[in-house]
Amino acid sequence: MSRLSREACAALDATDPLAALREEFALPPGIVYLDGNSLGALPRATPARLAELIEREWGHDLVTGWNRHGWIDLPRRVGDKIARLIGAGPGEVVVADSTSVNLFKLLAAALRLSSGRSVILSERENFPTDLYIAEGLIGLVGGQHRLRLVDGDAVADAVDAECAVVMLTHVNYRSGAMHDLAGITAAAQAKGALVLWDLAHSAGAVPVDLTAAGADFAVGCGYKYLNGGPGAPAFLWVAPRHQEGFRQPLSGWLGHAEPFAFAPDYRPAPGIGRYVCGTPPVLSLAALEAGVDLLLAAEPAGLREKSLRLTETFIAAVEQQAPGLELSLLTPRLSERRGSQVSFRHAAAWPVMQALIARGVIGDFRAPDILRFGFAPLYTRFVDAWDAAAALADILKTGAWDQPDFHRRAAVT
Ligand SMILES: *Cc1c(COP(=O)(O)O)cnc(C)c1O
Repeated sequence: MSRLSREACAALDATDPLAALREEFALPPGIVYLDGNSLGALPRATPARLAELIEREWGHDLVTGWNRHGWIDLPRRVGDKIARLIGAGPGEVVVADSTSVNLFKLLAAALRLSSGRSVILSERENFPTDLYIAEGLIGLVGGQHRLRLVDGDAVADAVDAECAVVMLTHVNYRSGAMHDLAGITAAAQAKGALVLWDLAHSAGAVPVDLTAAGADFAVGCGYKYLNGGPGAPAFLWVAPRHQEGFRQPLSGWLGHAEPFAFAPDYRPAPGIGRYVCGTPPVLSLAALEAGVDLLLAAEPAGLREKSLRLTETFIAAVEQQAPGLELSLLTPRLSERRGSQVSFRHAAAWPVMQALIARGVIGDFRAPDILRFGFAPLYTRFVDAWDAAAALADILKTGAWDQPDFHRRAAVT
């Protein structure tokens, strides 16, 4: 890339076809927000939508809101919208519970569908909750199964006749490395395994086509790139060919075929509806819908193009402004291997990130030594990439990070 400048970045913003969508977010002035992969920004429409839901729908219409305002349909309605972001069809996705709980439900489904096989295969560097949930489930189903962990690059070759399910996160939360979703799905299925994808760092950030890949199951997160707000519910997808064949273990009343028959025995709802457990979080679902609507307003190819260009620009800006300052790039340079974030290792990553945050550049820290910067293409500007790199270079050059305040640890990183 030719020599970058702030002016060149501003010129990229001036011709960015997605630039207007930034105006749909309530970003605080003076902040460079590069943590949309941990908590997405607030859509401007969300506060008014929630106020209306609370004051009019709930406050005035009370329990009649379930029917009158279609609250009961929200898990499917928002699910259908998310489906369009991940290459799934209508009626194939529901929004429910957290990503962790959805992993539990779908892993249990996968194990039952592949009886005789005993291994859940995953990546050592997978997000820990995914591995913890697998461990917990294995304990619960009698201890006959094993969790086998290999390096990310070795997953496809590690699938064998013992392997019941391959459980992988498409884009790694630490490095931002992206797996070949279609390639690994095909390789695993050729050996008779099922494949469960965690799209927490993919949905809303990189193109995903579950149908074209012929995948089996997927889960994903509502509060990251989907901008659903803190603790937003998660989504899950089950390939239509598997939907009817399985009762998920959290057989709650709202996954029943007729919840309001109040029958004593469980009969699963047809299709994806059986993957719901209890009462949907209506306020959170309405907030999530506002976030997803903004993503649907963008053209998917344009989103990916901008995301790649942002991450490329940031890498180049850091390398140009902070050479020899003990940063090492963890994220793949090859665009087809990169999600929508950039991570650098630095020995003092924690205090360096606190110093950045004190200057209004918000990224995050991941143990043990990672500076992580997410680039949500809906609202991040090219000048943000430049300004963040400039602040990082300055903090490293001047040693401004090395102050007692910046060394103090917090509960959430
Ligand atoms: C963020 C994330 C989760 C979050 O799970 P919760 O149940 O919402 O806490 C799970 N898996 C991956 C890969 C994630 O990145």
